[in-house]
Amino acid sequence: MRDPAGVSAAVESAGSVWIAGHVNPDGDAIGSALAMRLILETMGKRTTVFFQDKVPDDLAFLPGASEIRPPSEAGDSADLFLAVDTSSRDRLGSCEALMARCSRTAQIDHHGTNPAYAQVNSVDGSAAATGVLILEQMKALKVALTADVALCLYAAISTDTGNFSFDCTNGEVFRAMSELMEAGLPLAELNMRLFREKSRPQLKLLGRAIEHLFFAGAGRIAVMTLSRRDFEDCGALAEHADTIVNYGLETLGTWMALLARENGDGTVKFSLRARAPLTVDDVAESLGGGGHPRAAGISIPGILEETTRRVVEAMEARLERETDLEEER
Ligand code: 5GP
Ligand code: MN
Repeated sequence: MRDPAGVSAAVESAGSVWIAGHVNPDGDAIGSALAMRLILETMGKRTTVFFQDKVPDDLAFLPGASEIRPPSEAGDSADLFLAVDTSSRDRLGSCEALMARCSRTAQIDHHGTNPAYAQVNSVDGSAAATGVLILEQMKALKVALTADVALCLYAAISTDTGNFSFDCTNGEVFRAMSELMEAGLPLAELNMRLFREKSRPQLKLLGRAIEHLFFAGAGRIAVMTLSRRDFEDCGALAEHADTIVNYGLETLGTWMALLARENGDGTVKFSLRARAPLTVDDVAESLGGGGHPRAAGISIPGILEETTRRVVEAMEARLERETDLEEER
């Protein structure tokens, strides 16, 4: 349930706030955290943003991104720990230890699977992005929208709506966008930056993934894999694979898509996607992961080929349970 008043009360009684988000942060996690930091600093709160993993290069331009710290640099504690865009406590990674050191905890999130793990929880699985909830929170705190906050919230909202194309995109998203535009958002420039420009390693990695594309589930599941070798050959980072799974789902005849990538620490990260009415959060959860109905993820220890086979089998089983798919797309 959304609880902007509850989060406001927690924030107002705090002098210092630690903000953190999930491992392998995306635009919604980083944008929401940085927007919240700007809002809290306007209110005179001492605020630091922590992430376990580094900020993806394409988000490094966001205001305050260079001041994001790893949890190892945190002091003893803060008055309030605020998690954003993080579906479960363990998804904080090493930032979970910071949460344990704060006596007051709150969170703002939009994952339907969120178990309300903080003392104060403003969570709504029907919100398209955490960024939408941050805008609502800003109003509850009676802070005015600035151009910098608009920039951060655009990064958040545009990321999680797939540049305003996923089926989570709703009227609230466009009402929020209307406010961001009024605050002076340079939309065309940012859109180019976040959704169209690609680095050379990113493009090479996409080539590798497409080269490895195969189909399972009687042709209805598109599967791509990326080994450490692929990342090394292309000079690419993990973040460069972040949107590749969409190419699988965009292939005609496909209902589900999977991207498997070797993390380099003995685990394999899986990105699962589905077209309505199919869902993949249930598949991911059954294997220990989570996410949203049409976009979910999981990391599994093991060998690329073997773990991929297991996830593909679980997706095939999910596909077989769905009886009312149109035969052809
Ligand atoms: P992506 O495939 O883009 O990394 O993630 C898609 C969605 O699944 C995101 O909303 C993310 O929060 C969730 N997700 C990704 N990896 C994991 C994971 O290992 N565990 C859980 N619980 N959720 C994940
Ligand atoms: Mn999100």
